[in-house]
Amino acid sequence: MKVYKTKDVRNVVLLGHGDSGKTTLTSHLLFTSGTLKRLGKVDDGTAVTDFDDEETHRKISLQTAIAPVEWNQHKINVIDTPGYSSFVADALGGVAVADSAFILVDAVAGPEVITRRTFRFATARTLPIVFVVNKMDRDSASFERTVAAIQDRFGRESIPLQIPLGEEAAFDGAVDLLTMKAHRYEKDGKGTYKEEDIPGELKDAAGTARAVLVEMVAETDDALMEAFFENGELTNEQVREGLAKGLRERTVMPILCSSSLHGVGIQDLLELSVQMMPAPTESRPRKGTDADGKEVDCPISPDDPVKLFVFKTVADPFAGQLSLFRVVSGTLTDGATLLNVRAGQNERIAHVAYSQGKTIEQISELHAGDLGVVAKLKDTQTNDSLCDPAHAIKMKPVAFPEPSISFAVEPKSKGDEEKISTALHRLIDEDPVLRAGRDGKTHELLLSGTDQVHVEVAIAKMKKKFGVDAILKQPKVPYLETIKKRSGQVNGRHKKQSGGRGQFGDCVIEMEPLPRGSGFEFVDKIFGGSIPQNFRPAVQKGIVETAARGWLSGNPMIDFRVTLVDGSYHTVDSSEMAFKIAGSVAFKAAMDKCKPTLLEPVMNVEITIPEDFMGDIMGDLSSRRGKPQGMDADGDYQVIRAQVPMAEMLTYASTLKSITSDRGTYHMEFSHYEEAPSNVREQVMGEYRKSQEAHS
Ligand code: GDP
Repeated sequence: MKVYKTKDVRNVVLLGHGDSGKTTLTSHLLFTSGTLKRLGKVDDGTAVTDFDDEETHRKISLQTAIAPVEWNQHKINVIDTPGYSSFVADALGGVAVADSAFILVDAVAGPEVITRRTFRFATARTLPIVFVVNKMDRDSASFERTVAAIQDRFGRESIPLQIPLGEEAAFDGAVDLLTMKAHRYEKDGKGTYKEEDIPGELKDAAGTARAVLVEMVAETDDALMEAFFENGELTNEQVREGLAKGLRERTVMPILCSSSLHGVGIQDLLELSVQMMPAPTESRPRKGTDADGKEVDCPISPDDPVKLFVFKTVADPFAGQLSLFRVVSGTLTDGATLLNVRAGQNERIAHVAYSQGKTIEQISELHAGDLGVVAKLKDTQTNDSLCDPAHAIKMKPVAFPEPSISFAVEPKSKGDEEKISTALHRLIDEDPVLRAGRDGKTHELLLSGTDQVHVEVAIAKMKKKFGVDAILKQPKVPYLETIKKRSGQVNGRHKKQSGGRGQFGDCVIEMEPLPRGSGFEFVDKIFGGSIPQNFRPAVQKGIVETAARGWLSGNPMIDFRVTLVDGSYHTVDSSEMAFKIAGSVAFKAAMDKCKPTLLEPVMNVEITIPEDFMGDIMGDLSSRRGKPQGMDADGDYQVIRAQVPMAEMLTYASTLKSITSDRGTYHMEFSHYEEAPSNVREQVMGEYRKSQEAHS
């Protein structure tokens, strides 16, 4: 592939609900443009941007992938993203380095839950948006209905730039409302059109649609508005100019139509990308902080020193770790040594390369705005900045969501612990929402992700990529403990003074509850020297360590204050160890008086469902101890917000699927801790007792 200058690069992210046709569209853009000689297909596992074994097996995109397309002296970096709720957060990395977005909408199903979510991703970065009504060839496909639904959902700024030629199986192109010409496609998959006059039966409809478009475009600019009032029309050049401006200012979101499976509409999308979509220099700059901690803008600028932003990491079992980056400034050439600003380490870019799906191709240089890939850096992760060492700037990371569910992972074969741990860490490198770590108390390996499917797919990937298998156990609920009453003064004494060197520690403490979220406080109120200064931290340490093991259920205790009021010591026998034990004895004595209780995590849950299922979903939520917080209508969908204890949401994915026949989605994040009802407390305590007995 040629080297492209900044002004000739376009970065277009494909967004939309799963199955709307993003990956198929990517394959056709590559094929029609002549960039690749062979047409890859999702259904037979040869699509360029679905290359992971697990993706070809499931026939869905699990992660963001890049496909550069060469068209008319330009390079369009197509960024294909996942559209399933469990994986869609990965699209955020792609959105961060895109300068515009195509949002695909299924012409039968209309805008769906993830269409809405990814629209919000693009809106947060104020990307210019073009809607593509895809799958126009399907039975019951309707451009008119889908356009109405898009306008209803996303605003009046969304406006057709085309009207379709033919319906359903007979769909074979569109009237371009800008040039007022018909673009007719052979359905041989080539993806190129022949320009024709508008068929007689569509002339009126096209005229009306153009008038609406022109009026909308005129509103983008005062000068255009004046011209429109004077002449009652705008020239094609004026419409083009107004459209480009409206797109950038988000006052216009054009709507196009396609059948990506048959290549219909492909050439139109290629032309639009090059002619209408902004060059990298026009995008909103990423924020960053310089070496002095000052906030600075990091615009795409060819003339500044080299700066890269890593937006994605891929764990390739053969090539090792791949870091996908955007050249934010300067020109990247072979052998560059760049500073990883977070790690404080230099990294060498031995060979400049770009990715075409899973293939890595070398190239002599990459200019600002372009996307590239580098293998096997020493210590580089997603969200890192790699800079010319004399001009270090840390660019603002992409805010990926926090995981909301954890499972315990157990090896299938004994002795695989080490392998699992290594494999999981490589998967975590490539998936910014996945986390793994050992539980401090149970020493279990916990894997956390968006939902059950997300975590299950991670395990499946681990098996395929790294050859180790594991079993997932019920997700753990991170309960906490606290107290409800003051203890009054209690004494803790540790004394062993027979034979050899003695041990002596003695303390008097008071314990009291603190408001939720306060954590732990230790107050030293000893007057005089009843305990020498150097032993007092040992009392605190003894208490903290004991409290971490909890009292009722083995879960850490929080939100309480300990005041050290008195004590005594022995000049020879006292030691730090003796005071630590005394602290722990005092803590236990206090617990008898403090009315300990269990706290459970409560989640903020957002559920989006077709409105027919409202009754069933609300009934089910109340059986899960859920408290509704409100709801909004969103077209035919309802968005329900509720607070539900985490323990009740562990298997929600399968319930939602069965109630709504897989037409709903949900998203949850941690809200706060709340006292658990007594039946939950008894059950958790019972399980803890059983596990203790089993281990003793
Ligand atoms: P993605 O999840 O958005 O990337 O969608 P895919 O490209 O993987 O397509 C999902 C399924 O829809 C595949 O079986 C495709 O063959 C099919 N598909 C994609 N585009 C079209 C289209 O324009 N028309 C029809 N009928 N099917 C399509």
